[in-house]
Amino acid sequence: MSMSTRTEWEVRAASIDIEGRAFVNGEYVSATSNATFECISPIDGSVLALVASCDSADADLAVASARSAFESGAWSRQAPAERKATMLRFSELLRTHSEELALLETLDMGKPISDSLSVDLPGSIDSIRWCAEAIDKIYDEVAATSVDQLGLVIREPVGVVAVIVPWNFPLMMASWKLGPALAAGNSVVLKPSERSPLTAIRIAQLALEAGLPAGVLNVLPGYGHTVGKALALHNDVDTLAFTGSTQVAKQLLIYAGQSNMKRVWLEAGGKSPNIVFADAPDLQAAAEAAAAAIAFNQGEVCTAGSRLLVQASIKERFVPMVVEAMKSWKPGHPLDPSTNVGAMVDKRHLDGVMQHIEEGQAQGARLLLGGRIAQVEVGGSYVEPTLFDNVSNSMKIAQQEIFGPVLSVIEFDEAEDAVRIANDTPYGLAAAVWTCDLSRAHTMARALRAGSVWVNLYDGGDMTAPFGGYKQSGNGRDKSLHAFDKYTEIKATWIQL
Ligand code: NAD
Repeated sequence: MSMSTRTEWEVRAASIDIEGRAFVNGEYVSATSNATFECISPIDGSVLALVASCDSADADLAVASARSAFESGAWSRQAPAERKATMLRFSELLRTHSEELALLETLDMGKPISDSLSVDLPGSIDSIRWCAEAIDKIYDEVAATSVDQLGLVIREPVGVVAVIVPWNFPLMMASWKLGPALAAGNSVVLKPSERSPLTAIRIAQLALEAGLPAGVLNVLPGYGHTVGKALALHNDVDTLAFTGSTQVAKQLLIYAGQSNMKRVWLEAGGKSPNIVFADAPDLQAAAEAAAAAIAFNQGEVCTAGSRLLVQASIKERFVPMVVEAMKSWKPGHPLDPSTNVGAMVDKRHLDGVMQHIEEGQAQGARLLLGGRIAQVEVGGSYVEPTLFDNVSNSMKIAQQEIFGPVLSVIEFDEAEDAVRIANDTPYGLAAAVWTCDLSRAHTMARALRAGSVWVNLYDGGDMTAPFGGYKQSGNGRDKSLHAFDKYTEIKATWIQL
């Protein structure tokens, strides 16, 4: 991690060259309408750049460029080992541009620079590298037939993939999809969030520099209801891979049904339970993890541990430990390397978070910590990490994804109660269990309806573990070899010998 000071980052920020145009067929271009929108930094409300505001005309151009690159075979028919080499160069370029990309990410969406450097960039680079390394090690299958027949089961790229991503981990969410989609030979049209378009725009050039043929990766910044919708309704997009809210995810399923029934893969919201039993191996570690699970990335994390389920017998002792642990998470200037809580992505989102906090109090939850806007003098949008006690699982703050640093403590008596409460939301993204009892850990892990279950830690895993949701948290999996399922069709060829 870089040791630069806040002043050094600010100097770099002042002179950073920001590209705001779309990237189509290997070139930066303005939106066909010439429209732009202001890209505003939540750090202090300043305008960073004017960014191309793409619409359906741009979607048509980018999809056509992706299709023609795909049909040309320049990428799609390359040997996997050749694609691997290009993508390894791409990951290496991301690595050598880590500081620049981390700075863009922090300026654009307000997360602490130390997180951009230690989480977002390594996570993004890993995804591209891991998928590159995997692609020439995945074999097709020969079916178990009689000797006079031959059954081949072959994976083929799906064609044109539209990738629509959110703003909380802009580059990393994009990379979880670009890695497997590109490695498998597809062409991609990437639409970043209108709240965080800058790193996506920048990496398109790096991919080209690495040797990715023009048209294989296109980037269209713009709004969801314009260019996002146009991609989702496009009849020449074969697969749509999305990360974002459950509300938009449902809309995308409708668009697919209204158009060409494109495959739709969804990573959506969460309201993840973090369950602490009295026999947790280390309550102090559990308290610190509970604080990090809600305060990291300002709570703008799909897997945020937003519901802390605590066994009644330890609640009185444990909750003050969590309060203490949360005090070490303080909103500060995102370019200060010691800051661990940055700015909320924008004022609108801040208002939403504050409204949830008011509702929690109105519904009778007990505010033990935080609850206020912070760093008012900076002119951005900051909120104090907030903890509510005496929350019942039916309250709005326990049911709705707040996407901010707001933790609800819910008491339970027995393991069955914990399971019932944990599973009682529309979501099923992740869950954690703290216990020394091996049998209970496994029983709980099976009973929890969630795509990821962590035992005696919060938020574990790397590229080897699949990531995704049950229920309304989505379908399909990012990361691991399972991610390739989203970006490949399976063809059965049956031959009579
Ligand atoms: P969002 O759903 O508002 O937006 C996500 C993307 O969809 C953006 O690029 C947006 O422009 C686009 N979009 C919006 N409306 C659209 C439409 N009608 N048609 C096509 N595209 C449209 O989500 P957000 O506020 O950017 O991100 C926060 C959400 O993302 C949270 O719910 C969070 O849980 C979720 N998330 C999930 C994961 C996961 O892996 N499960 C990871 C990160 C974030």
